[in-house]
Amino acid sequence: MLEVVIVGGGIHGTYLLGRILEETDLGRDEVAIIDPHDGLLEAFRRNGRACEMTELRSTFVHHVGTEPFGLEDFAEARGREDELLPTPGYPRRPSLSLFLDYADYVVDGNDLEAHHRRATVEAIREHDGGRPGRGEGVVLETTDGPIRARHCVLAIGHGGRYRRPDWAAGVEGVTHVWADFDPGRRAGGTVVVGGGITAGQLATSLSERERVTLLTRHPVAEATTEADPRWINWDHIEARLHRHPPGSRARQAVIEDARNDATIPSYVHERLRERADDGRLELRRGEVTSARSVDGDVRLLLEGGGCLRADRAVLATGFAPVFEHPFVEGVADALDLERGYGGMPVLEDETLAWRRTDGDRSRLFVTGALAAGTVGALAGNIAGARRSADRIVPALEGARPIRVPSPP
Ligand SMILES: Cc1cc2nc3c(=O)[nH]c(=O)nc-3n(C[C@H](O)[C@H](O)[C@H](O)COP(=O)(O)OP(=O)(O)OC[C@H]3O[C@@H](n4cnc5c(N)ncnc54)[C@H](O)[C@@H]3O)c2cc1C
Repeated sequence: MLEVVIVGGGIHGTYLLGRILEETDLGRDEVAIIDPHDGLLEAFRRNGRACEMTELRSTFVHHVGTEPFGLEDFAEARGREDELLPTPGYPRRPSLSLFLDYADYVVDGNDLEAHHRRATVEAIREHDGGRPGRGEGVVLETTDGPIRARHCVLAIGHGGRYRRPDWAAGVEGVTHVWADFDPGRRAGGTVVVGGGITAGQLATSLSERERVTLLTRHPVAEATTEADPRWINWDHIEARLHRHPPGSRARQAVIEDARNDATIPSYVHERLRERADDGRLELRRGEVTSARSVDGDVRLLLEGGGCLRADRAVLATGFAPVFEHPFVEGVADALDLERGYGGMPVLEDETLAWRRTDGDRSRLFVTGALAAGTVGALAGNIAGARRSADRIVPALEGARPIRVPSPP
């Protein structure tokens, strides 16, 4: 039986693996990370490629390495400081290529791929070790067979499900940027639907080679970060979030209020305005009521009577709610785990262990967007990976600490 299995080899899973190996005596045969992609972090790379992202929104201390200033040191040692980009009133941000090169350096330098098993976890159930009753661990049913583990950490991000408006269902030529959009395919004209950074980034990039309309429901809103940077600190998280009961509607309201969803930073807004002034991009406000495909064109009918016509429409409308993910629901049912408002996992705030319906701690821990009820507004972001690991790693029973983590 493995000591720890991490489900998901994205930013959170990869970062957590590094912290476990560094801070405990657990070794290669005891910790595994399961992800269907060929390599760790592949989902993040693919999403970055799809929207032609060139730089991070978050600062240079947020990355997959365990040393906060590791990326900055890496850039300086290679003469790549110019890839730490200035942001007015905010610390510098890495270019995507610097971020990914440093991630490769961390993965290779710590031999993290040796822990990676290529598979999808389809279900998780109690492992009772042949003695019915309270389990000794869990069994993960994967596409590559069952795996037994004493502890399991869900690091599935948003779980690969995307938000698609009803009007888009079954319409040929309408794709979602993270799912079925082909960034390599050229088109004469594209409508990008969405008001957040992904929509802004994609519309700007596509407008270099084709006619683009960016369709937003609301006026484009600016924000430097996804939430106030104070959400990086446990003191702030505890004061603002943990004063409400775990899993409560009040916690959900605090998170929603703190998130700057559907906003774009000023540098992306600036580029959009430049393109619009050049006539290469049209900024349009409106709500789509229906869509259809006619003679290879996509036609979007807007509330109030307008119509947009293009070769294709690309949705940059985000992810489907992970709390309601069928995999998550199945795991909660099989392990008798408590869920709160909107399906939110009820976690122990001190450990991020998912609480059982009888109030006891389960052997399942959670990081990423699924842990927002405890980690707060930046839980699903890169910064949230460090915060989650702060509490998960010391809580892994049987994993003896060998190192005190460096300060955030
Ligand atoms: C273009 C772009 C730019 C971004 N810029 C920033 C930024 O500047 N700063 C920031 O903080 N955040 C940014 N983000 C958000 C960032 O992607 C997330 O913070 C981060 O990817 C979350 O990491 P994660 O590990 O939780 O999820 P993911 O990176 O999505 O990884 C989850 C992994 O879990 C795997 N998985 C899911 N279900 C299963 C299963 N059942 N079995 C096995 N494996 C499974 C998936 O295959 C995937 O590999 C950006 C996102 C995008 C797309």
